[in-house]
Amino acid sequence: MAGFYTKRKKTGKKKIHTQAAVTAVLMLLSFAAGALTYRALTRPPQTDAGLTYIEEIPVVTDFLPEGCRARPGEKREIKYLVLHETDNFSAGADAAAHNSFIHQNANAPEGIVSWHYTVDDRQIYHHLPDDENAYHAGDRMEKNGGNLNGIGIEMCVNEGSNYEQTLLNAQKLCARLLIEYDLKPGALRRHQDFSGKVCPARLIESGRWDAFCAAVEQRYRELKSVQ
Ligand SMILES: [Zn+2]
Repeated sequence: MAGFYTKRKKTGKKKIHTQAAVTAVLMLLSFAAGALTYRALTRPPQTDAGLTYIEEIPVVTDFLPEGCRARPGEKREIKYLVLHETDNFSAGADAAAHNSFIHQNANAPEGIVSWHYTVDDRQIYHHLPDDENAYHAGDRMEKNGGNLNGIGIEMCVNEGSNYEQTLLNAQKLCARLLIEYDLKPGALRRHQDFSGKVCPARLIESGRWDAFCAAVEQRYRELKSVQ
């Protein structure tokens, strides 16, 4: 009998511990959701969101130096997220390699290119503040163009990387940026929409652009629902 009583008591304790753990997790989730909302509301509109993680994906910030040729530094209204693919299929041409590339070529005498994020299957590099223009859409600095009004996002296609995971990571980044800058899912654009270049090439040629946008919209709605 004593043994039975002890057992019951133990079970009761365990139940209390489980309930406490569930409550703690719920409080943490609610706090995280609240923090996201609080930050979105208190940060001045359209200044760089300063992301360090998107879910489990690290975001490494390594901005191009102010005043270099690839960083024109003009503040503008963010209207679009402009998707690209690197078209670099070499093994090792991941986000870190593109970060090195963009820094090494920041003052190239010609053929200047710059963009904001590079996404691979493990991490994201952030090269320029989101509230500044860049050279990635091939439309000079047209009034409603991608260079002036877009956040340029490159997706890696290097051999040996997991392209499907890269797409998922890019979708998470896009959904988060839509929330941060109070944009609608309709703000997604392809490089092709501005200059005609077939980019992001693999996504376009495989007929998956619409599915990509739908996946971003789904994640966007999930984030919206916890705000
Ligand atoms: Zn492109």
